[in-house]
Amino acid sequence: MSINVTRSSMPSYEEYCEEIKTIWDTVHLTNMGPIHNKLKEQLREYLKVQNIELFVNGHLALYTAIRALGLKGEIITTPFTFASTTNAIIQAGCTPVYCDIKDDYTIDESRIESLITENTVAILGVHVYGNICAVNEIQHIADKHRLKVIYDAAHAFGVEYQGRGIGDYGDISMFSFHATKVFHTIEGGCLTFRDNTLAEKIFQERNFGVAGEALTRFGTNAKMNEFQAAMGICNLRHIDEEILTRKAAFEHYEERLAGVKGIKLLKFTDGLKQNYAYYPILVEPSDFGADRDTVAIKLGEQGIFARKYFYPLVSENKEFGCDMTANTPKALALSRKILCLPLYAHLTTEEIDLICDNLLK
Ligand SMILES: *Cc1c(COP(=O)(O)O)cnc(C)c1O
Repeated sequence: MSINVTRSSMPSYEEYCEEIKTIWDTVHLTNMGPIHNKLKEQLREYLKVQNIELFVNGHLALYTAIRALGLKGEIITTPFTFASTTNAIIQAGCTPVYCDIKDDYTIDESRIESLITENTVAILGVHVYGNICAVNEIQHIADKHRLKVIYDAAHAFGVEYQGRGIGDYGDISMFSFHATKVFHTIEGGCLTFRDNTLAEKIFQERNFGVAGEALTRFGTNAKMNEFQAAMGICNLRHIDEEILTRKAAFEHYEERLAGVKGIKLLKFTDGLKQNYAYYPILVEPSDFGADRDTVAIKLGEQGIFARKYFYPLVSENKEFGCDMTANTPKALALSRKILCLPLYAHLTTEEIDLICDNLLK
């Protein structure tokens, strides 16, 4: 028996076949077809956002967000993220400037202003594990210094704060619909934004910079195809039920692990509508009696595959310009102690008990 850190949600074979049937009538495989457009409308409603554009994956969506805002210069961001965030910044011709994190693992807004220079153009925060950045405080700083705000909301599908969809904060947010995420389209993603005038730029950037017959701007190819969109339509039908089963699993973990010496659980922002995307624990070796790496190995020997996520930090890699870990000691320390335990829809109570029993042993 083995339990993986995540497992993709699948509609029934029949449900997916039913959804793709019309493609044989329309022979419309990609380039913003009818299923793409239907999913786009459904997601705009579900995510409670004003504008949305779908993408072939989350990474190219994030890259396109930076391009569509016309940013050139330094972007203040967090090193405690997946490689995609930094890759997108550099790929778009900007320079990442790393800001340390807080105890809730998101970018520390109290340190942002000290990192602003005359070259700073934007702040790019990450809603880590579906826990959100200090969106109101960050907007305040951005307004004061005339900076753009982008959020990597890859982990935050369906999360709401103060009655608003989380994708409604900042200038642009990116959601990932990768197979390992709470909601997926096999590979996929989207950008959400309030400014209507961005829609055309994003639409064109996603399609080689082409508008009708004209080549209006630089662009890439990042369109979502009809087979991806059909998977999205199916998965969206079951998403509320799936998040409820994730919630039950999450709460069972909390019951089992709260108060365990040497294990610190993440405290989510008050008043957040969560999506229960991940179950991260922080292993404090001196108190727990074993370090994170040992715990991961021992669990693996029992067929339980937890993930060191995020480890190592992107800023530790010389390829990304420079080693700036000296400026982000909290992020560096966390990357050595963090471990994501298995969490996915329909993970059973018995499986969680097995995981916790082994962990505590
Ligand atoms: C998954 C993920 C991405 C990239 O999304 P893809 O859809 O896989 O391209 C970016 N940032 C974070 C934090 C992610 O977890």
